Amino acid sequence: MRPLRGESNRPVTTEAGAVGRWGMLGSMSTRCPLHCDFCYHLGNPPEVITGRIASLKTPHMVRELCRQIAAGNYPAFDDRVGEYFANPHILDNIRVFREYFPDDQIDFTTSGFGLTEDRVAALATLQPVFLQVSLNTADAATRRRIMKDPMPEVAIAAIRHLCDYRVPFSGTIVAWPGLELDDIANTIRYLDAHQAVSIKINLPSYTRFFPISEDFDTFETWSRLTELVRGLRREVATPVTWEPYFFDASPFDAVVVGVVRNSPAARAGLRPGDRLLEIDGETVVFLEQARRLLIRRDLADDRRRLTVDRDGCVVSVDLVEEGGRDHDDYPHKPRGHSAVGRMFGVFLHQGLDLFALGQVRRRLAERPAGRTLLLTSTLLAPQVEALFAMAAPLGPGEVTVSAAPNRYFGGNVMIGDLLVASDIVEAIRLDEAAHGTPDLIVVPGSSFNDGRDLVGAPTSDIVTATSAEVMILSNARILV
Ligand code: SF4
Repeated sequence: MRPLRGESNRPVTTEAGAVGRWGMLGSMSTRCPLHCDFCYHLGNPPEVITGRIASLKTPHMVRELCRQIAAGNYPAFDDRVGEYFANPHILDNIRVFREYFPDDQIDFTTSGFGLTEDRVAALATLQPVFLQVSLNTADAATRRRIMKDPMPEVAIAAIRHLCDYRVPFSGTIVAWPGLELDDIANTIRYLDAHQAVSIKINLPSYTRFFPISEDFDTFETWSRLTELVRGLRREVATPVTWEPYFFDASPFDAVVVGVVRNSPAARAGLRPGDRLLEIDGETVVFLEQARRLLIRRDLADDRRRLTVDRDGCVVSVDLVEEGGRDHDDYPHKPRGHSAVGRMFGVFLHQGLDLFALGQVRRRLAERPAGRTLLLTSTLLAPQVEALFAMAAPLGPGEVTVSAAPNRYFGGNVMIGDLLVASDIVEAIRLDEAAHGTPDLIVVPGSSFNDGRDLVGAPTSDIVTATSAEVMILSNARILV
């Protein structure tokens, strides 16, 4: 697994305040006891702060933090994530949190280690909770081999218990080359049989820092996996997707990937492959716009009218959330959960946020530039170039779209989340050597957090490397 910032394609988008308060406590997890062949810790250089967490949060500490948060203070916290269920205090910690914030959804990312039936049963009484389970395989011997899990049966049985106790979860599979395609297919079927909300396949990726780099052809391997997923989508009811989502799928097209069981979308007969044309009368132009329309707060919380193109026919469907928190539509909206932000069970890939290009358009309207250099990732560059060839989303003026290779992290990494400032400086130097200095350089903000990249270098390193004006787009996921 590799570290990604802010990426989640599970359909449950919780209320911002709820996520914030659980997050403000700092991680309730502790050092992960497993040693996966593909663990992202293995692929990080020493400069990157990783989730090796030493201190255990105890109920006493959680109570103190909850008191501060309830009083309107924002304690400094450590948000590094290890393994939640390796913390022996985890259930007591949640109970303390519940005393203060009874309705906040609590999200866990877990390998399933330590997720025994007793703990699942307890979680069922502490709803709303949501788990993202990195199961990877439903075969005990394989899990023992690739994750070095001494008790693989616990995590595999946890999926069954989550279903039995009606605790919602999504499943993740890191499709490392050590996993057979048949094993991946069987794991998808296992997660589907136990009513996962969604299933995500992480296409295998490694950095140059990996001590062992498996010898595989990246695009051939990724293509085989996306082909497998497309085939399985005809067989299973659970939405299945992959990451990076913009490999072999458009980051712009508003096409339904799947529908969550027992959701308004499932009841209305929405189908994978339906292309969204209108949402509540507003024309859908691109994917991220559709996502925003589905969760928009100024529209009704409980209904949407969708018009879709289904195999060339225009079809309208009404999506209606039934009942409030007490209503049980497991797994879409279990009892105790809010329907807000669940996108009515419509499962979309996470698209690129073209709204953010408005910042560039406004800047160019004020002061037109002779040439604008727009930097993007190696993986996404062909699609961004195609977009600019079809339309001029920034208005008139010359725009050069250029990929910044991930030289620092290396390996087969091709995404913007793992670009660092030195990669971007190098791409600017190459462009300027070939085309001269542009007037404006647009850099994706997803490579930076609080003005620094993953290794701590500031964005000012880019600004001082060129005489052009540099515009770092503030939104998280643009052109990456
Ligand atoms: S479960 Fe996650 S953190 Fe733990 S070893 Fe595996 S990849 Fe690393």
